[in-house]
Amino acid sequence: MLEYGAGGSRVAVVSETEAIANAIERYLREGAYEVDHPAWPGNFLDRARRGRDDLLAALGAEVRRRGVDREHAPVPRDLDLVSWTRRKVTPMVEGLFPAAEREAVLSLLERSVVFLTAGNIEEVLLGQMWLHTAWALANLYLSSVGAALLGPGAPSLLGLSAETTCYVSADYFAEQQRRFDDYVIHEAAHVFHNWKRRNTGLRETRTREWLLDIEFRKRETFAYSCEAYGWIVEHARTRRERIAMGQEYAAVVTRFRDEDLDAEELASIVGEACESRNGWKVILRRCAAAKKMTRRETLALLTQGAR
Ligand SMILES: [Zn+2]
Repeated sequence: MLEYGAGGSRVAVVSETEAIANAIERYLREGAYEVDHPAWPGNFLDRARRGRDDLLAALGAEVRRRGVDREHAPVPRDLDLVSWTRRKVTPMVEGLFPAAEREAVLSLLERSVVFLTAGNIEEVLLGQMWLHTAWALANLYLSSVGAALLGPGAPSLLGLSAETTCYVSADYFAEQQRRFDDYVIHEAAHVFHNWKRRNTGLRETRTREWLLDIEFRKRETFAYSCEAYGWIVEHARTRRERIAMGQEYAAVVTRFRDEDLDAEELASIVGEACESRNGWKVILRRCAAAKKMTRRETLALLTQGAR
């Protein structure tokens, strides 16, 4: 709209309604927004709340619109999600944690999985703390119903973990799941390096802050290793079969070439895990962060050669 500026010159002024509409359109298309939501009226807190609420509501409405008359793979109606998840992650938790810590980790993970369905997607979106997570989840859901994603930069995801919640596409239950794919294991593995021991009721020490200390740049390698090895452990009946599947995985692992991940290293980790008695320990060793020094070790180093 055009208005007259103070000097009588015509300047383009975007009305508040237009500014909000533009901000919403930009968010829907790109997932982008300004943290202080300047288009909305009111003081800082009002703007933050209204901006966030309006963007999430618009996202929910857009997902509903695009999803009309489309279906995702059916999530089994009688699925007892808590016990199903517990069973699914138990071999991984038993392999990665000492006996005394397993129950605390299992209790955390058994309530962590959410399959995104037509029945819960809007509620999930409206409940998100972070707008960029909501946008990624909206795209994850749209992909599961075969709808167009929100914009050209939209990620194509099958799972996403935020803090301790693992959001998983209903594609998980599609008939044509690929061999070695298990996004529930993958997302649960991400929880280990995202979540602190003290929030899980486990003792924290100066050198042990996270459930598992995974090297930052190996986080994806760790999650993919757990996913593939978890799948193999679930499907192989004998050690020989497990080793053969590890070799088969090495041959197809190049499908990860485009991702931010070293496919050769991944194949080598999974192969070694399959040959070992406790493959989970192999994965942990090969993806662990360099050990932080204890106080005693630091002191020893500092006083070395002091005499
Ligand atoms: Zn991942």
